[in-house]
Amino acid sequence: MANHLFDSLRACTIADDRTFLERTDGSVLTYGGLWEATARWAGALRALGVATGDRVAVQVEKSPEVLVLYLACIRAGAIFLPLNTAYTAAEVSYFLGDAEPSLFVCDPAKRDALAPIAAAAKVARVETLDEHGCGTLAEVAARQEPNFPTVEREPDDLAAILYTSGTTGRSKGAMLSHDNLLSNALTLKDYWRFTPADVLIHALPVFHTHGLFVATNTILAAGATMIFLPKFDPAQVLALAGRATALMGVPTFYTRLLGNPGLIREAVAGMRLFISGSAPLLAETHREFSARTGKAILERYGMTETNMNTSNPYDGDRVPGTVGFPLPGVSLRVVDPETGRELAAEDVGMIEVKGPNVFKGYWRMPEKTNAEFRPDGFFITGDLGKIDGRGYVHIVGRGKDLIISGGLNIYPKEVETEIDGLPGVEESAVIGVPDADFGEAVTAVIVRKPGAEVSEDDVRAGLRERLARFKQPKYVIFVPELPRNTMGKVQKNVLRDQFTPRL
Ligand code: ATP
Ligand code: MG
Repeated sequence: MANHLFDSLRACTIADDRTFLERTDGSVLTYGGLWEATARWAGALRALGVATGDRVAVQVEKSPEVLVLYLACIRAGAIFLPLNTAYTAAEVSYFLGDAEPSLFVCDPAKRDALAPIAAAAKVARVETLDEHGCGTLAEVAARQEPNFPTVEREPDDLAAILYTSGTTGRSKGAMLSHDNLLSNALTLKDYWRFTPADVLIHALPVFHTHGLFVATNTILAAGATMIFLPKFDPAQVLALAGRATALMGVPTFYTRLLGNPGLIREAVAGMRLFISGSAPLLAETHREFSARTGKAILERYGMTETNMNTSNPYDGDRVPGTVGFPLPGVSLRVVDPETGRELAAEDVGMIEVKGPNVFKGYWRMPEKTNAEFRPDGFFITGDLGKIDGRGYVHIVGRGKDLIISGGLNIYPKEVETEIDGLPGVEESAVIGVPDADFGEAVTAVIVRKPGAEVSEDDVRAGLRERLARFKQPKYVIFVPELPRNTMGKVQKNVLRDQFTPRL
């Protein structure tokens, strides 16, 4: 008997004196130090009354101790439940009421504001942890023994509840099992060829699947090292690239790196892998990055609910604008959303996935869970896409963003790609707004390149010969920037809310 996730990850450590994590001040946390810390922190959870199966909700700034706390939860048989640091007190109140954790860990600076909210949600204990890893929880941990009897957990037991990014509506709590996380970590380690020699630059938040599970679990599974940055700073990343081997980022990391004159071939010559995900990487960004550095970004596709589903190949073509092939063990199909009938290559439909990576359901939302799974076990991702003749998966957008105008389907990405190709356009978001005649009207929200003077007429003229008439925008709006959430995702619901009443 064992603890499926914890014992398996721990067994991947090749030597206790190897570095798991390096901080910006140069100090390191070794693997031995990590595992010992998880014993003390698991002991602290027990001392604070956290029982097997309890949720531990955590809204704290990024620090290595958050990773220790995550692993300590797993070790103690508890369920780790991280929350986005941007959530307001009102939002935290909703999550605590929904998740009913027995312990809530928050930033010391927010304790006074959040403690009454936690009390109202009947959370038994509130402890603190700051960005330096200090706080009342760390103090309790420091008083515990350096060993802890790891709690037995089965592959299907829950390891974490992770709330989705809330890009399309209210965040949902995805229940992730020990095996959901472990199977994906082992797959990614192999697919992306992580070895103990790797040094990953970790600049992502740790409350989201990308920085928490994709980055951290893959590094643990490989027995590799990460350089742990509090946040993404392009100059800092470039300064570290000389002694790192890999970067995992959201597309905005790459556009911001491209905006830095220090991004030259020599600066990143030793990096073997640049990975992008969490939002669509523009094909143009991919190409520019290749031209500047000689490195092809590897784009992959995943979700909070499913961990990673597809990846461009390690060897072989990393095709711009695609998310590659289904990962080993993952079945992926594209179906007609209405009938569920599987579609032929090149036909656009709903992407559905099945595999050991796919979650156990939405926390306390049995109807929603039922509605999102097909009877044969496939999960309906909500993403529209196609599989091309070579087997590469393309994502054309979210089902919720599909525009239906005059009874015809319009995929925003197709229109965005054309607009983005026009001179003077930096980027765009195409949305549907209610329209009395057509149901929805195509609306283009455009950001100009710095100093460019592209006008509405230019856009209309540029699209006239390139897109069928029904796909051409009825409204063209220029904005200084697109609204994005902390994962760099464009918030189309914000745009729809903003522009619907004005038109
Ligand atoms: P919510 O479900 O709450 O609306 P969300 O879907 O943005 O928020 P996440 O689970 O963080 O929450 O994101 C998963 C989604 O991100 C996918 O369903 C997909 O739409 C998008 N995504 C992830 N990777 C890629 C990618 N490489 N290309 C395009 N889209 C991607
Ligand atoms: Mg989603």
